[in-house]
Amino acid sequence: MYPRSFHYHRAGSLKEAVDMLGQLGEGAKPLAGGQSLIPLLKLRFANPEHLVDLNFIVGTSFIREEHGSLHLGAMTRHAEIERSEHVKKIPVLHDCAAGIADVQIRNRGTIGGSLAEADPSGDWANALITLDTTVHCLGPKGARKIALKDFILDAYTTALARDELVTEVEVKAPPQGSGGAYMAFKRAAPVYPTASAAVQLTMEGDVCKDAAIALGCVGLTAIRAAEAEAALRGKSLDEKTIATAGEAARAAADPHPDMRGSADYKRELVAALVRQAIQIALRRARGEQVGGVHLYA
Ligand SMILES: Cc1cc2nc3c(=O)[nH]c(=O)nc-3n(C[C@H](O)[C@H](O)[C@H](O)COP(=O)(O)OP(=O)(O)OC[C@H]3O[C@@H](n4cnc5c(N)ncnc54)[C@H](O)[C@@H]3O)c2cc1C
Repeated sequence: MYPRSFHYHRAGSLKEAVDMLGQLGEGAKPLAGGQSLIPLLKLRFANPEHLVDLNFIVGTSFIREEHGSLHLGAMTRHAEIERSEHVKKIPVLHDCAAGIADVQIRNRGTIGGSLAEADPSGDWANALITLDTTVHCLGPKGARKIALKDFILDAYTTALARDELVTEVEVKAPPQGSGGAYMAFKRAAPVYPTASAAVQLTMEGDVCKDAAIALGCVGLTAIRAAEAEAALRGKSLDEKTIATAGEAARAAADPHPDMRGSADYKRELVAALVRQAIQIALRRARGEQVGGVHLYA
């Protein structure tokens, strides 16, 4: 189906885009990679009167390391993140970027658009929530920074005001002795995962000093599995400890049955993904190179 007709506006700067969104009112929406918005327009689930295109704004696509943090411009494409040598130093992020849909979608979709969309099946929020992540925003009242945990409020709902933009995502580099992994289970490459798990471990010798575990596609937002994390902290990570964390993750999941599977199937799946992601994160924390971690049916 063709979208309903809309007015197209090309913003020359982030400030101009914010001003346009303010002046054009309720019927205006920013357009980034269009990989979520355009399908919604074509299905006529979204019918904005005005689109404010962010694609021609110079300086909104970048990846740089500064003062112990990784900074990603809102318009940075998933594919650029996948290829970045800076990002490879934080494998949970590289895994995430490399597994999003197929190469066409990764070439267009942006990290800022993905967080702003807050799709419960989206990958970025789930991977980023295991790290110390801050979302930089710009609105009519100026710039502000929001911790990712306070940015995504519910399915498709963020703390952004209607005329406010994501400008940058800032991720603090994990400490020495850390390793992470992001695993998604998909029926095929160009679809959203059935379930996903993100794990970030900090090891001190054989003992887990800190753990962050997040579950994707099994709730209205990414879920931090606090009891699964507690099951690892202060412990040596043997099979029994990892199995306990997997069971805690299963209990923390709150999935809905849909075309991708029943609620029980998704709980089973997420527990298995958490166990495997812990194993890979542990190997990486020890300095091993482990690649290709996504699972396809
Ligand atoms: C077939 C298919 C499969 C996909 N599979 C996956 C998958 O496996 N995993 C996954 O994570 N994603 C998947 N996606 C979604 C893809 O990653 C999108 O790129 C992403 O969700 C949205 O990013 P975008 O840049 O395309 O944003 P757009 O579609 O342009 O915008 C999305 C929403 O965010 C708003 N917006 C965009 N940028 C900003 C900004 N800077 N500030 C404020 N608001 C903004 C827009 O107004 C719109 O409401 C898939 C998409 C398709 C079509």
